[in-house]
Formats: sequence, structure tokens, C-alpha cells
Amino acid sequence: MPLKLLLNGARGRMGIAIAAIAENNNAEIVSACDVGDDPHAKIDTCEAIIEFSFHEVTLNIAELAVEKNIPLVIGTTGHTAEEKAAILSAVEGKIPVIWAGNYSVGVNTLNYLTRKAAGILGKHYEPEVLEMHHHDKKDAPSGTAERLIEILKDGYALNEEQVVHGREGIVGERPRGEIGVHALRGGDIVGEHTVYFCGDGERIELTHRATDRKIFAQGAIRAAQWAVGKVPGVYNMEDVLGLSD
Ligand code: NAD
Repeated sequence: MPLKLLLNGARGRMGIAIAAIAENNNAEIVSACDVGDDPHAKIDTCEAIIEFSFHEVTLNIAELAVEKNIPLVIGTTGHTAEEKAAILSAVEGKIPVIWAGNYSVGVNTLNYLTRKAAGILGKHYEPEVLEMHHHDKKDAPSGTAERLIEILKDGYALNEEQVVHGREGIVGERPRGEIGVHALRGGDIVGEHTVYFCGDGERIELTHRATDRKIFAQGAIRAAQWAVGKVPGVYNMEDVLGLSD
């Protein structure tokens, strides 16, 4: 039986991509909601919610998922620290939530390889992150880059103050304990991420290039299917794919 879904942000790029592949991925969009629609209207027929809309909207959708006791897949990015905390306190211990800045299998493999590379290469290799997206993207750095930064912060035991977004002017020498992050915007780029490990005499680059939004759509539906029946908790796509070690 196809998984019955409420899709929030249904008229957006991701909403359209999810609707286009739902049937072939054993899912059915029974409630497609966007601005002006009432997500409560058909919620009782839904088994899970997929949310790809706008950062201010996610908390309301999370509260609806808790009220109806159904799993939630959060694809939306760009939440403020306050919004993240409010969403976490609304859902924690109540429902299974999959929350990932990127649902592609390839990017989650990049996350895994980044964690492994940081562990192998260590402090003599300086990490930098470069991300590129289309000119309509509203947040920077991307949710995917934020996840890579978290992995690098863990791997190098660095804190948020040691993450540097762009460089301009006389910034001085690069300290060892730093992660540089750079966001390029233009054209119709779906999403590119490179993690550089710059050593003395060599450099390693791990790159993922997305060329079609269907990779995120397929991953989000797979996440919703995985979430059904799981113990309440907040999971990411690496958990869904079994890459969390
Ligand atoms: P988009 O701007 O094309 O679509 C967003 C949609 O949300 C629009 O149709 C808009 O009308 C709708 N929306 C806004 N407010 C709403 C509300 N109150 N209720 C219902 N719908 C509302 O954006 P997009 O490219 O589809 O991306 C959507 C979000 O998903 C962004 O935050 C983006 O960064 C993120 N994203 C995440 C992944 C991932 O894998 N996690 C991949 C791609 C995009």
C-alpha cells in the first residue's frame, strides 16, 4: 500500500519534484498544501508529513504532526537557532522526526566520507567548505554545508567561533583551528558541495554535484517510509541509510 502523505510546500520546486516521483516510490500525496491551504483539512487520512516550505512555517507543521501522532520529515532549511530549539522541544520524545539538510544518498555518503577523512587526516590538514546554489536560494550557507561544518567541528574539536564565513580584507594568517565556509550563488545550480582538506604538499577534495532535485525527493520519501513505526526521536538521513557509525 502506498504511504499516504501530507506534503507541505507543494507548489515549490521540491514539492513539485516530490509529487512527480511519489507514485513510483510507493507513496501517495493525499494532501498537497501550500500558502493559503489548511494543513488540518485532510490530515486524518495521512500517515506522515513531508515539509519543504519556509523556515518560519516548520514549527506549526511540527505541532500538527505531534497532535496527530504521525512521523515528520523536515526538508526545509534556514531555521534560526530559536526556531530549531522550538521545533526540537515540540517534537522530542513524541514522534519520529527525520531532519536532514540534504536527503540525497550521495550527499549523505559525502557526510560519511568527510567524517572518515577528518579522522584519518587530522589537524595537519586544514578543512574548508565551498557550496554553490541557484540565484533564488534564500539561505546561506546551505543546510548541507551546515551539516558538513558540524561534522568537521566534531572531527577537529572546534567551536562555532572558529567557523569563518567568507574572508575579506586584511584577515591575517589562517589559524590552524579554523573552518572556512564559502557560498557561491548563480544561475540554475541545483547544489554543489566540496570539502577541502588542505595539507602541506597535498590536498584532498571531496565533491558532490546534484543535477536533479529528484535525488532529494526520493530520499525524503524513503525517509518518511523508514520513519513509520520508529521509536520517537530526531533522526537524520545518515540514520535512515545506516551510515551513522
Ligand atoms: P521554493 O521557494 O521553490 O518552495 C517553497 C514553497 O513553500 C513555495 O511554494 C511556498 O509558497 C511554500 N510556502 C511558503 N510558506 C508556506 C506556508 N506558510 N504554508 C505552506 N507552504 C508555504 O523552495 P524549494 O526549492 O522547494 O525549497 C524549499 C525548502 O527546502 C528550502 O528551505 C530549501 O532550502 C529546502 N531544500 C532542502 C533540501 C533537502 O534535501 N533537505 C533540498 C532542496 C531544498
